[in-house]
Amino acid sequence: MTATIIDGKAVSNQILEELKAEVDLLREKGQQPGLAVILVGDDPASQVYVRNKERACKKLGIFSSKYCLPDTTPEEELIQLIQKLNRDPNIHGILLQLPLPQAIDEKKVLDYISPNKDVDGFHPYNLGRLLAGDPIFLPCTPQGVQELLVRYQIPIEGQNVVIVGRSNIVGKPLAMMLVQKAKAANATVSLCHTRTKNLKEFTSRADILIVACGKARMVTADLVRPGAAVIDVGINRIDGKLVGDVDFEQVSQISSFITPVPGGVGPMTIAMLMKNTIKAAKRFWEGEATSFSF
Ligand code: NDP
Repeated sequence: MTATIIDGKAVSNQILEELKAEVDLLREKGQQPGLAVILVGDDPASQVYVRNKERACKKLGIFSSKYCLPDTTPEEELIQLIQKLNRDPNIHGILLQLPLPQAIDEKKVLDYISPNKDVDGFHPYNLGRLLAGDPIFLPCTPQGVQELLVRYQIPIEGQNVVIVGRSNIVGKPLAMMLVQKAKAANATVSLCHTRTKNLKEFTSRADILIVACGKARMVTADLVRPGAAVIDVGINRIDGKLVGDVDFEQVSQISSFITPVPGGVGPMTIAMLMKNTIKAAKRFWEGEATSFSF
C-alpha cells in the first residue's frame, strides 16, 4: 500500500480563502480583526514563524502589529505590554511566540494574556474549557490536526488514536479534543511519552497515529500498523533540511494516509491561528467576550 499524502498546504490555503471571505464581510461593516504578535529574542525559527503569521494576516486583511523585544527584556516589561494589549480595542488576539528566553517564566507570563484574546488557547481558563467539553479557543496545532482528519474524511469516532508526545501545546490538548463526546472526536485515545513501556505495543494498535515527540524520523515502519493514518507534527532541522518525527520514506509505504514535513501540519497551525483571531474579534463585537479580573 502506498499512502495518500495529506496536502496540508492545499487544505490550509482553502481554509484561508474561506476565512478571507469572512473578513471581507466584516470589513464591509467597518470591523477589522486585529492580532498582536510578540517576539522576544532573536531565535531564527521563531522569526520565520512570526513572519509567516504576519503574511497570513496580510493575505486575509487582518490588522497585525508586531512587537520585537530584545532577549534581555525584563519579565515585568513583557507583562506590561500584554496588559496594554489586553485593553486595546483594536487587538482581538495576542500571540506570544514561544519559546521565551530562559530568564522569563513562560507559564507566568502566558497567564497574563486575557482568555478572551488567547488565540493560542494556552491559558489555563481555555484549557479548562476544553477539558470540560465546552471550548472557546482550541490550541492551533491540535486543531489543525483534527481539521486535516476531518477534511480527508478519516473516521475518528470509535477509532484507536495513539499520540506520541504529551506536551501542553500538542499532545495533551489533542488527546482531550479527540476523546470528547463530540463531532470529529469520540475516539479511544492513548497518550504515550518517554516513560511508556513498550511504545510499539501502543503504536501498532493505532488506527490513527499522531506523532509529536520532537525526535527526527523516530517512528519507523515497524512501529506502525499497516493501513493506519499517520499524522506527523514534528519539525526537525537536519543538515538544513526539515524532517518530521516519522520516517516518511518507510511509513508512506504501509500507511493509508500520511502528512509530509514540510507541507503537512505546519501550514494548518497558521490557518487555525487566523480562525481563532476572527473568532476572538467576533466574540468581542457580539459582546461575548466577558471581562476577566486576571
Ligand atoms: P516537547 O519537546 O514539548 O514534547 C515532546 C514529547 O514527546 C514529550 O511528551 C516527550 O515525553 C515525548 N517524547 C520524546 N521522545 C520520546 C520517545 N522516544 N518516545 C516517546 N515519547 C517521547 O515537544 P512539542 O510537543 O512542543 O513538539 C513536538 C514536535 O512537534 C516538535 O518537533 C516540534 O517542533 C513540533 N511542533 C510542530 C508544530 C507545527 O506547527 N507543525 C507546532 C508545535 C510543535 P516526556 O513528556 O516524557 O518528556
